[in-house]
Amino acid sequence: MSVKVYIPTPFRKITGNRTFVDADGLDVNGVLRDLDQRFPGFGEMVFDGEQELLEHVNVYVNNHEITSLQGAETRVTDGDELAVIPAIAGGAGNAMTPEMVERYSRHLIMDQVGPLGQRKLIDGKVLAVGAGGLGSPVLVYLAAAGVGTIGVADFDVVDRSNLQRQIIHGTSDIGRLKVDSARDRILDMNPNIDVITHTSPLTSDNAMEIIPEYDVIINGADNFATRYLVNDAAFLAEKILVDGSIFLFEGQVTTFFPGQGCYRCLYPSPPPPGMVPSCSEAGVLGVLPGTVGAIQATEAIKVLLEQGEPLKNRLLLYDALAMDFRTVKIRRDPGCPLCGDAPTVTELIDYEEFCGSPFHEN
Ligand SMILES: [Zn+2]
Repeated sequence: MSVKVYIPTPFRKITGNRTFVDADGLDVNGVLRDLDQRFPGFGEMVFDGEQELLEHVNVYVNNHEITSLQGAETRVTDGDELAVIPAIAGGAGNAMTPEMVERYSRHLIMDQVGPLGQRKLIDGKVLAVGAGGLGSPVLVYLAAAGVGTIGVADFDVVDRSNLQRQIIHGTSDIGRLKVDSARDRILDMNPNIDVITHTSPLTSDNAMEIIPEYDVIINGADNFATRYLVNDAAFLAEKILVDGSIFLFEGQVTTFFPGQGCYRCLYPSPPPPGMVPSCSEAGVLGVLPGTVGAIQATEAIKVLLEQGEPLKNRLLLYDALAMDFRTVKIRRDPGCPLCGDAPTVTELIDYEEFCGSPFHEN
């Protein structure tokens, strides 16, 4: 029987840094022996001298701890998912403290999340580009869900006119860096997470140092130069990109998987400068980014949990005035200059020149 095994961070040095590996066996014991064959040293991490499973190592089959099943003799079938989870001393790292068990209790009782899914969230690293209208709900929900490492990239300071929609910031934050205000807010919500702030504007010079550090990138940029930069960097770094944008009463969301389409497939070049006004010029309904950002956060959490169907090759269109959601099919363009068959963009370019506009228009 061929099964998929989730490998937690402490064991990944044995599996060549792979998060999931395949293994064969009739029962849990057989699968673990097979893993020891494939990855020498694995056995020592999970078995004691008597070849019994170590007490500080828990094994889950499809999210159920095996002591609640038939222990190491629990039979497995094709397609089952196993997880081998050691306790970690000191309550640091990805061990769940009693406080965390209580905090995440509504996740832990869900079949689709459970202890294994919650650990995937704790191990997850997500970067929010922008701590504004879209970034606000994204950051708050990722933090609340327990995503363990959250990056925030924004160079701007909180302005009173932001507070109509950027709900992560408060009146007392006016004049502060948005990343500082956002970090304080989400650490107050969940002190178990790590927040990494990036205060320099994302540019062609630094994007490939920042974006590869994360699993999922959430684009909440307010200008085309940053939107294309983040798209290209996410593709080049082979990261999943959840793209969201808003205008007046309308929003768009899609999730790009590396090599399966990108923002340039959808929009090969930006509109001429001035043709599409920004939110600061045209306005935006305050609650709109709440809806769109919450959808982006949902996508990121699903991707980390490996549950459900992401908005892959689909563009979700939301019209708040009509209260209409629809999805249209999108696909990789073989002629795409970035992810096509004969790419012409193989490294980051000058995006201000490409878009004919600066990174930061407001
Ligand atoms: Zn493309």
